[in-house]
Amino acid sequence: MKYLVLFSIIFCNPSSKEIKSFPIQKTDAEWKKVLNEEEFKVLRKKGTERAFTGDLHDKKEKGIYICKACNHKLFSSDTKFDSGTGWPSFFKPIKEENIGKESDFSFGMKRMEVHCANCGGHLGHVFEDGPNPTGLRYCINSVSLKFLTEQK
Ligand SMILES: [Zn+2]
Repeated sequence: MKYLVLFSIIFCNPSSKEIKSFPIQKTDAEWKKVLNEEEFKVLRKKGTERAFTGDLHDKKEKGIYICKACNHKLFSSDTKFDSGTGWPSFFKPIKEENIGKESDFSFGMKRMEVHCANCGGHLGHVFEDGPNPTGLRYCINSVSLKFLTEQK
């Protein structure tokens, strides 16, 4: 009986199914050592930076955008466009498998959350009002990204 109870606690805990595993695993304390307060709030706690406050939304140089938390390659400048929203916007990721997606029902809205497939870090959301060729708009927080100038 004791074992049955223990079993139920482990497998029937509703929060346990929300825990997804990613190749890179760190505790909050470990993340706080490598991320500043704003980066931690957005990447680890799914916060959103205020529009037009990030330093990448109007960046037009050629290069790639990598995850601020784990350096995973996420987006290329070739797919970046000016959405006028004040957040860096892309019509597709550098590789589909580098990004994870999950339904997000917070704030009474139905949105699709996007995160780094390597560390689970929150990046932003994807909307279906983007330009050709995909019709998608990946609306990403500047603080979740690090820009690398293209090597010639
Ligand atoms: Zn990452």
